[in-house]
Amino acid sequence: MDAIADFLSTPAAIACAAVLGAVWGSFFNVVIARVPRGESIVRPPSRCMSCQAPVRPWDNVPVLSYLLLRGRCRRCGVRISARYPIVEALTAALAAAIFWKFTGADDGELVAVRLGRFAVYFTFASTLVVLGFIDLDTKRLPDVITLPGTVVLFLAAFAAHDVSWQQRLIGVAAGYLFVRLIADFYYYVLKREGLGLGDGKLLAMMGAVLGWKALPVVVFVASVVGTAISLPILLATRSHAGKTSLRHVEVPFGPFLAVGALVYLFAGARILGLVLPTG
Ligand SMILES: [Zn+2]
Repeated sequence: MDAIADFLSTPAAIACAAVLGAVWGSFFNVVIARVPRGESIVRPPSRCMSCQAPVRPWDNVPVLSYLLLRGRCRRCGVRISARYPIVEALTAALAAAIFWKFTGADDGELVAVRLGRFAVYFTFASTLVVLGFIDLDTKRLPDVITLPGTVVLFLAAFAAHDVSWQQRLIGVAAGYLFVRLIADFYYYVLKREGLGLGDGKLLAMMGAVLGWKALPVVVFVASVVGTAISLPILLATRSHAGKTSLRHVEVPFGPFLAVGALVYLFAGARILGLVLPTG
């Protein structure tokens, strides 16, 4: 067992995690493209959106195939979205980083516990990647992912042995209610649509894994990053289309919440330590 424990912190093990992440990323591309359209994620096999040619296995190697084909279909030459290699590279990087952070720790924990923690947090991060890109693409966070995701991740997080189930259960309720209150305030008081309830279900799913203490940090980071990125876009859009269109520009909040949750996953203990000196 010591040999395995030593192997977990080697570059070779982290590289294996990255390859595993890239392969999963390839599958997540299918999920991101098909779930919003209500299509099966298993069948049919991937095809070119333009000429319907099936994607050959050797043209389906994560990231590499896209680079070798210079981002075009081998048969008809139509451009392939850069989202495909981006999702694959991002998932690979997250898998490597989560593996490095959560399995390499030399605190005498069982190998099974460390690998379990990797499985839980990689599943969590993957769900965030999928939901973030679906929200960017369609401005929707499908219930078909967030609702089962909350239940499955709440149960899976027992294997991570990090946050108590009471804190995580409160996190589910607090995440949803927080967004619900803001949404109701916009709807009944300001008479317009603010946050979508999809954001509340996403925040509930985050609470199910990270616990309620994470939620203020997640929302704060999401707001800062969201403002920094979307303000220039909103201003550019306004100068193009005139003042009245500003309130019609919809900026999805899900991707920024996902960034906030990932920041918390990697640096949450440190951030909470700054805010709450006693721990
Ligand atoms: Zn084609």
